[in-house]
This record gives sequence, C-alpha cells and structure tokens, in this order.
Amino acid sequence: MAILRFILGDQLSRNIATLRDLDPERDVVLMAEVGSESTVVGFHKQKLAFIYSGMRHFAEDLRREGITVDYVALTEADNTQNLEGELNRALARHNVDGVVVTEPGAWRVKDMMTGWESHLGVPVEVREDDRFICSHARFAAWAEGRQSFRMEYFYREMRRETGLLMENDGPIGGQWNFDAENRQSLPDNYRPPERLRFEPDAITRAVLELVTERYHKNFGDLEPFEWAVTRQGALQALDHFIEHCLPDFGTYQDAMKSGEPFLNHGLISPYLNIGLLDPLEVCRAAERAYLDGQAPLNAAEGFIRQIIGWREYVRGIYWLKMPDYAETNHLKANRDLPWFYWSGKTRMNCLANAIGDTRRHAYAHHIQRLMVTGNFALLAGIEPRQIEAWYLAVYIDAFDWVELPNTHGMVMFADGGLLASKPYAASGAYINRMSDYCSGCVYSPATKDGEKACPITLLYWNFLIENRQKLQGNRRMAMPYRNLDRMNATQRKSIEARASAFLNGLSATEDEPEAPQM
Ligand code: FAD
Ligand code: SF4
Repeated sequence: MAILRFILGDQLSRNIATLRDLDPERDVVLMAEVGSESTVVGFHKQKLAFIYSGMRHFAEDLRREGITVDYVALTEADNTQNLEGELNRALARHNVDGVVVTEPGAWRVKDMMTGWESHLGVPVEVREDDRFICSHARFAAWAEGRQSFRMEYFYREMRRETGLLMENDGPIGGQWNFDAENRQSLPDNYRPPERLRFEPDAITRAVLELVTERYHKNFGDLEPFEWAVTRQGALQALDHFIEHCLPDFGTYQDAMKSGEPFLNHGLISPYLNIGLLDPLEVCRAAERAYLDGQAPLNAAEGFIRQIIGWREYVRGIYWLKMPDYAETNHLKANRDLPWFYWSGKTRMNCLANAIGDTRRHAYAHHIQRLMVTGNFALLAGIEPRQIEAWYLAVYIDAFDWVELPNTHGMVMFADGGLLASKPYAASGAYINRMSDYCSGCVYSPATKDGEKACPITLLYWNFLIENRQKLQGNRRMAMPYRNLDRMNATQRKSIEARASAFLNGLSATEDEPEAPQM
C-alpha cells in the first residue's frame, strides 16, 4: 500500500510518527508552504523565514536519504494556499491508497483534520504526536479527580517517570526544586555569554528574499537572521548552551538587562517546537553537565523543570481543556491592545525594551514575556484574545498549544486559576529589583504621585482594587490585599481616578501622546 505522508511546518523531526513506517520504494512525503497558515496572525518576519527555511532544509535531508518528497513552494502557480487543498492536489498527482499525518499543534487545525477523510475520499490516519514526554492519556490520568492543577506535583511525576536527576527513588540533592536560589538580579559587571550565530546559507537567503517580497509589512526585523534551521545547527546551539550558558542559567533566570535580550537563556524553544531538538535529549544533556560537574544542581534542575515540567504541563492543559479553554475570561478583561505593543514606542522603558528585543529578534525571554509585556496586559485588563494573538504573532517559538495556555492561563488568569494558583501581578518595584530598566525611565518606581509616578505601580494597585471580589479570597493574594488595605479610602480613590485617566489615554491605533497621562 502506497501512502502519502503529510509533514506540517512544525513536524521537522526524522522520528515523527508520520515517517516511522515509511517505505521509500512506494511512499511519498508531502510538504506544503500555504498562505492560510502564514496569515493566521501577522507573524514576525523571522518566524516565517525560520519555518520556511526549516521546512526546505528538512525536505533536502529526506531527499538525501532517497525518500521522494513532493514540496509545494508558497509561490507555486497552482498552490491553493491551504492544507486541504494541497492534500487534494497531491492525491491527484500520486497513486496512493491513503494519507498519514501526525496531529497538529493547534486545535483549529486538528478540528479541520477531522473532515479530511470524508472530503478527500481516502483513508486518513491521524497519529498522536509522541515527541513529548507526557501523552494525552497520561496527562488526563494525572488530572483526573484533581480540584486544581499544580505544575509542581505534575513535574515530580515526570521526574520519577523519566528518572532525570533521581537517585534511590528520590530527587538528587534531597529537594525537588531549587528555585529559591534562582532569583538573583545581575551584578553590575556581569558579562553574559555570547549567542551562537548562524550564517544564512543559499536556501535561507532565498527564503529571506521571499519573506521580504511577500511579508514586508509584517511586524519585526527580518535581518540579521541568526537562527539555526537544521537539526545539525540546533544540536550545535544546544551544545553551546550547555557549555556556556547553563552554569549560570538558574541563578540569573529571572534577571533582565537593557541591551541583553538573551542572558543565559537556552534559545532552544524554536528548535524544540518545530522538532529539530527532542525534549528528552535536551534534558539528558543538562543532567550530564551536572553529573560531570560542569553545571550546578540549581541550574540543571531549574532548566529540566522548564521542559519536563512547564512545557509538558501547559501542553497537557491545552489538549485537555480546548476548545472551551480559550473562551474563558475570568477577570472580564476587555480593553483593546495598545498600539505600542506593535510600535514599541512608549515612555515605559521596561515595555520599550521588551518590545524592542522582540522586534529585533522575534525573541524575549520568559521573565520579559511574563513580568513585563504580560504583567502590563494583565494590569491594564487587555482582552485575552487580543494579547494572545500578539504573542502568537511576534515570537519565533509561538505555536498555539504552548502560547495559548501561557498567555491565557499564566499571564491573564483568564482560566480563573486552573493553570496557575494566582495572577502574576507585580508593581514597578519588582521590575526595578530584577532589571536595570527603571534607571533609564522617565518614570520612577518609588514615586507615588505626579508626572514621574510609575504607571506599572499605579495599575498594580488599581488591579487589586478592581478585582478585589474575585481575588481577595485567594490565600496567595492575602499579603497584597493587606498592603492595599493600609491605604485609606482617599488614597484608593485617587489611584482609581489616575489609573482610569492613564488607561483612557492608551490608543489601540496610535502611539502615546507626548504628555504623560497621569
Ligand atoms: P529558557 O529560559 O532557556 O528555558 C528552557 C526551555 O524551557 C525553553 O526552551 C522552553 O522549551 C521551556 N519552557 C520554559 N518555560 C516554559 C513555559 N512556561 N511553557 C513552555 N515551555 C517552557 N514558550 C514557547 O515555547 N512558545 C510560546 O509560544 C511561548 N509563549 C509564551 C507566552 C507567554 C505570555 C509566556 C509568559 C511564556 C511563553 N513561553 C512560550 C514560555 C517561555 O517564555 C519560552 O519557552 C522561553 O522564553 C523560550 O526561550 P528559551 O529557549 O531561551 O528558554
Ligand atoms: Fe517600567 Fe515603571 Fe520601571 Fe519605568 S519606572 S521601567 S514604567 S517599572
């Protein structure tokens, strides 16, 4: 039986379920660049280039193995620009008995796939994506009967099941989690490791031209384009991280610094998410570095927790709870996304930095996403759908299964606390402690009133006031509410009035006006 094996843009793994029983004598691999997928939201130019170049390199690698690959380029004259249309056309070109595909990373596409067999008139087998540590069934079994989900408990089970950093049935070092050691700000003279940069080859240069031609209006800088686009390049990036960045990864994981977008972070999520790296191999590499004495335990444990903990946990929640999950809006947030998220032009230096890094690199690290752009969206009450579309568009590693739960649950608390036990709301004091942003800002985190008062701090108190009914019963919010209640009624009224003036001054279509809106 000849099979048409359909590979999607984030399925560039040689061991993907679709290819597992491939017969190179009879089967054909189909890959297609389609406009419907590249215009879901206005993606960052580097993200488009990364995926198209990754796909073209993957197709070349398969061809080198003697596999027949039918590759449909975006510019091909008859390209229908949608997945089903390209499958249909390919079925007319090849004499095959059925289609095999691996489940996609977005509910929207999975829903589409359920109609393929009847629309195409051939058997379509949709296989589970087993490039993850926790299967859908395993996550559902873990979640069964739990009133609330907590990542930490899920993570411990994944540690036991993978055996990572375990000895005698317990965690190495006697503790599951070393986060208490991982919250330091950067010393003034700290020099972060250099990023490993990859020179574009002929395939990537052709893709860069295509993106310039077709997507020049999209968000972000296309060049310099310095990402790896092959498995071999991704492995080099992993080695570089383990050797140069992992030793200090834990200690400075939460730190932020102007002009230093990468610090000790791995820059590996794009490779993991399109299949160029495997999560378990990445964790084994970090474990080995610890066992060989090349990285401390707080770093190796902190890094492994991000992958077998957070990454698997958010994916589990996504597939368990979608599609209803995306519809919740616990805090009833409904403000439009301010225009400065796109232009980067704002006097709030923390936001200008995080958005500027995002424009230049299609990347910002976790704390910038969570505690700067995310924190502002939470405090300002941005409509979840709008801020989710922004994250999906601007980050090179953003795919629905991982972007949506992080934004909807972790940042916006739109699921009412299913994913995270409390909102990650913070005032300017947190940003001042963890970064150097405030020293270059027109505002001051310590000033309470007047033109210099930090908008983040103002919005923080306003957020607590506005959402008191929904949040004050949460035990983890007791301290913030005790602090709020130290203010008298006049002070709280003044916060509400000034926050309202500030928020009303934000525009969804224009940059901020020159004068501060305080
Ligand atoms: P490192 O700091 O080096 O971390 C190592 C790895 O851990 C990452 O590569 C990633 O695979 C994993 N990881 C860490 N935290 C998370 C997490 N919360 N969820 C899932 N994986 C995690 N990550 C994505 O891969 N795609 C997204 O679309 C995405 N959207 C996000 C949106 C918001 C609002 C927030 C707060 C976080 C988001 N994250 C997303 C998680 C995290 O910010 C990125 O994985 C990380 O910044 C990627 O950079 P890195 O490889 O340098 O990470
Ligand atoms: Fe951001 Fe406020 Fe600090 Fe300015 S003072 S950088 S707005 S936290």
